[in-house]
Amino acid sequence: MDPLAIRRIVVVGGGTAGWMAAAALSHMLTGVEIDLVESEAIGTVGVGEATIPHILYFNRLLGIDEAEFIRQTGATFKLGIEFVDWGRIGDRYFHPFGTYGQEMEGLHFHHFWYRQTRLGHALPLDRFSIGAQAAAAGRFQRPDQARPGSPLGTLNYAYQFDAGRYARFLRERAEARGVRRSEGRITTVRRAAETGHVEAVVLEDGRALGGDLFIDCSGFRGLLIDQTLAAGFEDWSHWLPCDRAVARACARVDAPMPYTRATAVAAGWRWRIPLQARTGNGFVYCSHYCDDEAALRSLDAALDGEPLSNPNVLRFKAGLRRKAWDRNVVALGLAAGFLEPLESTSIHLIQSGIARLLTNFPDRCFNQHDIDYYNRRTRIEYEQVRDFIILHYAATTRDDSSLWRHCRTMALPASLAERIAIFRENGRLYRHDNELFSETSWLAVLHGQGIAPKRQHPLAHQLPEQELDRRMAHIARAMDLTVERMPSHQDILDTIAGG
Ligand SMILES: Cc1cc2nc3c(=O)[nH]c(=O)nc-3n(C[C@H](O)[C@H](O)[C@H](O)COP(=O)(O)OP(=O)(O)OC[C@H]3O[C@@H](n4cnc5c(N)ncnc54)[C@H](O)[C@@H]3O)c2cc1C
Repeated sequence: MDPLAIRRIVVVGGGTAGWMAAAALSHMLTGVEIDLVESEAIGTVGVGEATIPHILYFNRLLGIDEAEFIRQTGATFKLGIEFVDWGRIGDRYFHPFGTYGQEMEGLHFHHFWYRQTRLGHALPLDRFSIGAQAAAAGRFQRPDQARPGSPLGTLNYAYQFDAGRYARFLRERAEARGVRRSEGRITTVRRAAETGHVEAVVLEDGRALGGDLFIDCSGFRGLLIDQTLAAGFEDWSHWLPCDRAVARACARVDAPMPYTRATAVAAGWRWRIPLQARTGNGFVYCSHYCDDEAALRSLDAALDGEPLSNPNVLRFKAGLRRKAWDRNVVALGLAAGFLEPLESTSIHLIQSGIARLLTNFPDRCFNQHDIDYYNRRTRIEYEQVRDFIILHYAATTRDDSSLWRHCRTMALPASLAERIAIFRENGRLYRHDNELFSETSWLAVLHGQGIAPKRQHPLAHQLPEQELDRRMAHIARAMDLTVERMPSHQDILDTIAGG
């Protein structure tokens, strides 16, 4: 074995981040001992139910059987997010996973759709999204990549699940692969005098857990990365002013829909996440404009079933650790940073942090270049997601409350301002560096919140008008037929439950 190899890893925290890290590292690494410490007295944040499609890769990497995962975590399928009252009160649009229509003549579909819109013949954009159509009809089917050209090939999906059950599910897998779990509160962190590296965490009862590499998954407190190493935090709350949430589950009243709903309200927005056995609800708000009691009243008034849990009030600040990796500590999850849950990205950011750590996996020399590279990539990823989330707040004509008046007039990050300006001009959407959100996502939100381009791609004019109409009608018909044949979401869940 490499004499410099990492031999002991300590994961601090047993929330979604801690158990995702422990499950993935124990699956990918051999010859490494892994300890995880968590404190039931401190508990976990207890939310985080909606995901994006990349979670399928994480589960596959770990060899997780999808049906078993769905049974164990009470999961439903998710085809996207329905946004209500964002651009204007009364508006409603769907951000689907997957793509719209199909590329033609080497150009993105939307250039042709905008041309047809200008000609006055276009069907609504959602008619060209199999995800949006299936969601509206309460239907679901897995994508079929084996049939090129079929609209099913353009579908993509994620899950909505019980976060606590997902952590327990991963815990079982991690422990089966040798991860040792310790219960207790860490009260002291020991550091090496010379390097400042963390050497051990010490629990209330005096037990010490030493390691070469520490993964800080201790949540917002950032026990190692912040309270010990003072890595610093970049505050983005001037762009994302919501800083509180109250969450509460309620009884299911209908068959679960295969999508999450995000409804904008005066002081923030509410989520509704349908799971198999219950519905997750939450209200994300800005404490300048709304107090906790008013937030809870507003959430309770919107519940569509009997409350099933006590309200869980959470406080947070949008932003990023200046260094997610410092010395021999890598922060994942809420310890690394937080962007509010509007586009369900936090669990994905944990997953991509784990992937990046594996790519740059250190030995005990802890090469600073690798650490810098990791931090640079982390920042780029968070900034790209941040811009996309800010777009939802900024692209609004709402002026019914102080929050929305602030958002519609706030100065934007230069990167976002440029992206909107380019789109407004000629509809071009550039995906930088294989960033998380694709052209489809940007288009869904820009169009859904009322931003339209002045012109479209010049080459979209090369297709004769009649031919354009013929192709668009053909695509819409194929989508309709496909959705009509899809089973209901509930039928699929019942089949999986029947095992
Ligand atoms: C309002 C809200 C809604 C969200 N919704 C979504 C969503 O829909 N989709 C999504 O992807 N993400 C969502 N998230 C984010 C998601 O919940 C988190 O990314 C995820 O739960 C990971 O949290 P964590 O494991 O980093 O932290 P936590 O769940 O807070 O876990 C921290 C762990 O550290 C342990 N710990 C802390 N201090 C000590 C100590 N001194 N000694 C021992 N143990 C300690 C705790 O016991 C716990 O086990 C949401 C977050 C919020 C705030």
